[in-house]
Amino acid sequence: MPYGPYVTIDLDKIEHNARTITTLCGKHGIEVCGVTKVTCGMPQVAKAMLRGGVACIGESRMKNIHRLKANGVAAEFTLLRIPPLSAADDIVTSVDMSLNSELSVIQALSEAAFRRGLVHNIMIMVDLGDLREGVWPDDLLPMVREVVELPGIRIAGLGTNLSCYGGIVPSGKNMNQLVDHARRVETAFDIKLRYISGGNSSSLNLIASGKMPRGVNHIRIGEGILLGRETIHRRAWPDAHQDAFLLHAEIIELKEKPSVPIGETGEDAFGGRPEFVDKGERDRAILNIGREDVVVEGLKPVEPNISILGASSDHLIADVTEAEHLQLGGELAFFMNYGALLAAMTSEYVEKRPMRGIELVSEHRHVVLAEVSSRDKAESHPIVNIEELAAGLNQLGVFFTRRQHIRDDRKVVSEAMAEIIDEDLVPLVYANDPKTCPGIYQGLALSLPFLGAIIFSAHGSSITAFSELPVGPGGEAPRLESERIVFVGLREVSSEESQLVRRSRISAYTLEDIDALGMREVMYRALRTASMGTDGIHVTLDMDALDTSVAPAVSRPVRGGLSYREGHLAMEMIAKSGLMRSLAVVDYVPEKDVNRATADAATEYVLSLFGKKILRI
Ligand SMILES: *Cc1c(COP(=O)(O)O)cnc(C)c1O
Repeated sequence: MPYGPYVTIDLDKIEHNARTITTLCGKHGIEVCGVTKVTCGMPQVAKAMLRGGVACIGESRMKNIHRLKANGVAAEFTLLRIPPLSAADDIVTSVDMSLNSELSVIQALSEAAFRRGLVHNIMIMVDLGDLREGVWPDDLLPMVREVVELPGIRIAGLGTNLSCYGGIVPSGKNMNQLVDHARRVETAFDIKLRYISGGNSSSLNLIASGKMPRGVNHIRIGEGILLGRETIHRRAWPDAHQDAFLLHAEIIELKEKPSVPIGETGEDAFGGRPEFVDKGERDRAILNIGREDVVVEGLKPVEPNISILGASSDHLIADVTEAEHLQLGGELAFFMNYGALLAAMTSEYVEKRPMRGIELVSEHRHVVLAEVSSRDKAESHPIVNIEELAAGLNQLGVFFTRRQHIRDDRKVVSEAMAEIIDEDLVPLVYANDPKTCPGIYQGLALSLPFLGAIIFSAHGSSITAFSELPVGPGGEAPRLESERIVFVGLREVSSEESQLVRRSRISAYTLEDIDALGMREVMYRALRTASMGTDGIHVTLDMDALDTSVAPAVSRPVRGGLSYREGHLAMEMIAKSGLMRSLAVVDYVPEKDVNRATADAATEYVLSLFGKKILRI
């Protein structure tokens, strides 16, 4: 156990606060963007906010956004800080929307997006008097006139930021001005703005009072969710927790001492001249935390009868005379204000301990291994090495049961899949013959939860398996919808197949897309599409998605597939997302497999999907 100070982060409380605030805002037609920047973009925090109903994640730093995405946060991202000119390329490929106020930056974003055939969303910020970022209202229409002409840019909305610098309070008046500016832009250029973004946590009071103008339909909330406070008076928000984050430090000295220092006084360690009130002898505790770790002025002891006397770089001194049961080696806990939280989350000396009261429901760890084969008995050379797979799953702490092999009949496969999913177990089916897939998808479409799917495959022909999905239980919509299906790794697609993709709204990433965007980005987008509004995802790994040097023994090999590393990166990102509810591994021709290289690779990728670290991303 590390013995420095630490911050506990109660993810259930963050989720609860997010739900309180998104519910309130939802009643007023306002969508909430959850802001994680004060936590340095902590993935668990972003996931808790998303569970609590925020529509997207707002961050100020690209580095945080990349960390969130790499850790399986499947959300839309908004870049809050006005982007630097130099970051255009990174921004258009990595974030969905950025807040902007400078024409030349928007031009750079346009150029970068257009070059890649992308469209980047911007929110134009208007300065309504707080004097931080934003276009001056007089300059708004002239600027928009230029922006609407730019290729690769969509003006998604108009926003403002108040209270952060000038302390300006959001009011019916300035918010109406924002709505008026937006309407003027819409009329002058005949465009529709998706968002009118009415600020940050300082707008919560206005929303709760019902006085936020109706046009405002978006807000960006950090502190309100994380610390459970509005930020005009810093009052606790109703039905929100203020202690989702607590700082803990250890008592390293506990002694009775006089309350006034002895001797001639000069400057203290920070150039101040301290003053002291004589209260006689007091019990004083020194804690192993100081100005190097937090903003001491932003701490408040959880125990009410303790007061902070002062601090130097590494020591915090507290008067504990009134406190009971304290001892050397014990700990004290503190509430933090925004500044103290920011410093504690940034300090490398302060350990972060995210906690959840309940077990992660999305982390299904009980797997059913089942083989699908055409003969009446199992394959003598299956696509995975069963013993090795079983041992590997064991090591990863994944429980598994083995089922008798499933006969390769569409109806039989479909029913077996649905049955396993209904039992809340994860089917891990493997089959040498890729034609097993339609039965698998039918089973998914029929089974209880709504699932998305990520299909790794080289051939467009695998798309046709989705052209005839059955309706769900009770004649409802299929449990697997085409909007939530993503293909990755395609490189042989006929024109009819690409038409089918377009008609059905299936997403497809070809090898070309992977070259342009990078595997990380493609996987992140795939995870987002497949998980949006679903209870998890199914993954099909057709071994022909991988390059022939990695998996040569497939039925119809095509060169130029996913590299060994790209494959593992993809699997590890899926594992980290905790979203996988079902897995199929298909396409194997044992006669072609010299030294079982392809089977070994398949086994390794499956373990990677369950969290075995190969690349250590
Ligand atoms: C930080 C930030 C927010 C969130 O502010 P909170 O006071 O934490 O709610 C919203 N918008 C912008 C532009 C920000 O920089």
